[in-house]
Amino acid sequence: MEEFKNTFTDVNEMGEFGLIDHLMEGFECKKESTVKGVGDDAAVIKAGDEYMVVSTDLLVEGIHFDLMYSPLKHLGYKAVVVNLSDIYAMNGRAEQITVSIALSSKFSVEALDELYAGIREACRIYNVDLVGGDTTSSPKGLTISVTAIGRVSPNDITYRSGAKKGDILCITGDLGAAYLGLQILEREKQLYMSNPGIQPDLENQKYLLERQLKPEAQKHSVEFFKKNGLKPTAMIDISDGLASDLMHICKASGVGAYVEEGKIPIKDEAQLMAIKFKLDPVTTALNGGEDYELLFTVDEKDLEKIRFMPGVYIIGEITDEEEGLKLHTTGGNIHPLKAQGWKHFEKNEDSQN
Ligand code: ADP
Ligand code: MG
Repeated sequence: MEEFKNTFTDVNEMGEFGLIDHLMEGFECKKESTVKGVGDDAAVIKAGDEYMVVSTDLLVEGIHFDLMYSPLKHLGYKAVVVNLSDIYAMNGRAEQITVSIALSSKFSVEALDELYAGIREACRIYNVDLVGGDTTSSPKGLTISVTAIGRVSPNDITYRSGAKKGDILCITGDLGAAYLGLQILEREKQLYMSNPGIQPDLENQKYLLERQLKPEAQKHSVEFFKKNGLKPTAMIDISDGLASDLMHICKASGVGAYVEEGKIPIKDEAQLMAIKFKLDPVTTALNGGEDYELLFTVDEKDLEKIRFMPGVYIIGEITDEEEGLKLHTTGGNIHPLKAQGWKHFEKNEDSQN
């Protein structure tokens, strides 16, 4: 038995991105219509004069959501929104989705009606059509996979790879709230498990809980770019955390960047709740994840246009690759910015992503 132990590699050793790179070895894109394969928020495929952008995500019960505190309607809504977010991250217009589910016998038709009420609501609000999917049984729990399809003109397509030195680093909204919402829900779950008679104390934190349970994608930002003739040089959506997602832009673009600590947008309720949880609000904003804001870079010449963009924050600048990723603290110090991200393959069932 001993020699078998040495033959197999634990997926944990590679991490998510190392594993994807490993699995992709030996694949090459040969079709003339494949513009961009693996490595951005969505794949890019030629479709007439336009590009089609396609992105898919998988949500697994016990890993990505917990039905003890995620209402099924919100879950359906979130499953769609997190996919649309990847289409917007390409500067695309989302148009269709497919939804596939695998479910165990514990789910009733009424429960699935709730899930689909959330999916329907997202389709209505984001103006996309549900055009297909698949349904199957599963030995345990619920798995939802959504694929989103969008369109974008070759002039407007925005990759992770276009950032250059001197570009302004921007974000479409505040960070850290979704992670703190999750902390509240997890805390109340633990208390409930140890004493089921107890009433949950959600502390009137509507904003933090909504950011976690029912996030929104940045459709309006993409519409603003189009309307104002503004093209970001690079863009990604913040799913894993600012530090991790900025690292993706820097890696893909071959650049460095700095973020000014004092410019990171954090809502007051997030600041206060972070402190209550004995967390540093800035660390929460940098590494929390699931904010689904867009992180993008624009050429210096577009500074004036960006100033008029509603809800946008300028948080830093792109530098040379050798400079790496830096955090300029409010105290005047410079720290390396480390992407903690999530450990995707933790054996712990409650891990994220
Ligand atoms: P995002 O966080 O924007 O959804 P991911 O981090 O999930 O992106 O994925 C990064 C890239 O790797 C994407 O281009 C995605 O399509 C690709 N990818 C992820 N998992 C696989 C897989 N099992 N096989 C092929 N490509 C994958
Ligand atoms: Mg993404």
